[in-house]
Amino acid sequence: MRRFVPDEVLPSVLDIDLSSLKRRKIKGLLIDLDNTLVGWGESHMEPGFAAWIKQAREAGFEVCLVSNAMPDRVDAFASELDIPRVSKAMKPLRRAFCRALRVLGLETHEAAVIGDQLFTDVYGGNRLGLYTILINPLSTRELRTTRLVRRLERRLFRTMIKRGLVSPAVMTIRGRRGHS
Ligand SMILES: [Mg+2]
Repeated sequence: MRRFVPDEVLPSVLDIDLSSLKRRKIKGLLIDLDNTLVGWGESHMEPGFAAWIKQAREAGFEVCLVSNAMPDRVDAFASELDIPRVSKAMKPLRRAFCRALRVLGLETHEAAVIGDQLFTDVYGGNRLGLYTILINPLSTRELRTTRLVRRLERRLFRTMIKRGLVSPAVMTIRGRRGHS
């Protein structure tokens, strides 16, 4: 159960406190693409998200996209943002995160995983001992399987709350849309 508990739950990547990550000695961000930086199936990133990546890099963070999506899609965004990427990541398997760490030249304690899914981003990151930040999905237009995943996530969160593993406030944050 603890492997599913995110270190932080936030409405959007735009809510991430970069200076607090810095205080935790985190130097790299392994960031999910679909529904974290771009709406599901969308081909354009909103300028605010690209600006946030730029801001993170200017603040000294190394950033790598880690996505389960196909290379075509991930490469396009990675080159637009001018950052490295790992596509077809097969999260929650650890190897994609390991590859991203190698690309950035960082140790596990120096990186955070940012993503919208508990079972891929958070679970995968926690398995490796990475700092994990769960954000709300940008769009609710998703595959039917993903909608099922959302229901399972909510159920898991209710159990975590009962066991005192996360704050009940998580349900309120999670109920909100990722867009600010
Ligand atoms: Mg995602």
